[in-house]
Amino acid sequence: MAQEMRSPIESGCPDGFQYMHPLMRKNYGQWAYHEDPQPGVLLHVSKYGDKIWTVRAGTQRILDVFTLRELCDIGDKYGEGYIHFTIRSNIEYLVADEAKVEPLIKALTDAGYIVGGTRNSVAMLSHTQGWLHCDIPGTDASGVVKSMMDELIDEFKGWNMPNRVHMTTSCCQINCGGQGDIAINVQHTKPPKINHDLVSNVCERPSVVARCPVAAIRPALVNGKPSLEVDEKKCICCGACFPPCPPMQINDAEHSKLAIWVGGNHSNARGKPTFQKLVASGIPNNPPRWPEATAVVKKILHAYKENAKDWERMNDWIERIGWPRFFEQTGLPFTKYHIDNWRGARASLNASTHIRF
Ligand code: SF4
Ligand code: SF4
Repeated sequence: MAQEMRSPIESGCPDGFQYMHPLMRKNYGQWAYHEDPQPGVLLHVSKYGDKIWTVRAGTQRILDVFTLRELCDIGDKYGEGYIHFTIRSNIEYLVADEAKVEPLIKALTDAGYIVGGTRNSVAMLSHTQGWLHCDIPGTDASGVVKSMMDELIDEFKGWNMPNRVHMTTSCCQINCGGQGDIAINVQHTKPPKINHDLVSNVCERPSVVARCPVAAIRPALVNGKPSLEVDEKKCICCGACFPPCPPMQINDAEHSKLAIWVGGNHSNARGKPTFQKLVASGIPNNPPRWPEATAVVKKILHAYKENAKDWERMNDWIERIGWPRFFEQTGLPFTKYHIDNWRGARASLNASTHIRF
């Protein structure tokens, strides 16, 4: 007997509508405006007069199952059983009854979660996978986020900044890397160290050679075995060869550093999107609390808070005052590493992420 045809297994993201608060489903595409009644709370009003309140709390993004259960229990008990996560690792509870907002905030606060992250606050740092998920990181990402947000907690809870501040972290230089008002990214400072005994067994040499953006890798015979060699004068220490060829080890406790970039903006709502620029380099990659990187971030935030006009984003502020004053106001040293002197820059002059006066 012919078997019934097996139905295809769907994969990918499930349809989000089934999980939405019923009031959101009803008013999909019909929202008239929103207000910010208090830090961490949004009120959306639809064209039909329906109102829904959102309470936002920060999380550490990589959540264990116990924390998730606790957050869901709070949603069932004090909210209306509907949550979603923002791309910046915040959990949001949606309620159609204003009377539920304060008890929900109290329950979250009593359980140790921080409510905030709306309007002109420092939003939750976004981060890449770090040591937990990825095979190429040079630092942790969730650890940096946790350490920094512990120190910026008041900026998350309050509306103290001239405008919204988006911060990002990235644990390698090449892949899902961060771009934001302030970005904390890994910076390798030495060429990869090759374990020649392993290359021929592990790496597809032509694809590793092709991967180098500055053509610094060549096939080579080492001790009679096929391997690779790196022209260290050309190498820009990007780390792109490490993922396809782990024997080209680039991570290093001493030489993998952190760099801080500012002024990146994806949005084109009020102005063009902007590239971030490097403003501090060679910062120690110092777990578990990364105090040196946090100190630099705080200097930049302090100068921005004191000197930017209302509604200026980080890139607008720097554009208005110019880079020399940015370095004066933040107290960061300006070094030769900030200037684009790469010989390939002729082709990238208008797209370079380095500073030009
Ligand atoms: S930034 Fe790089 S190391 Fe970090 S998770 Fe993404 S690909 Fe992996
Ligand atoms: S680190 Fe980057 S520039 Fe250096 S050899 Fe590897 S891929 Fe090429």
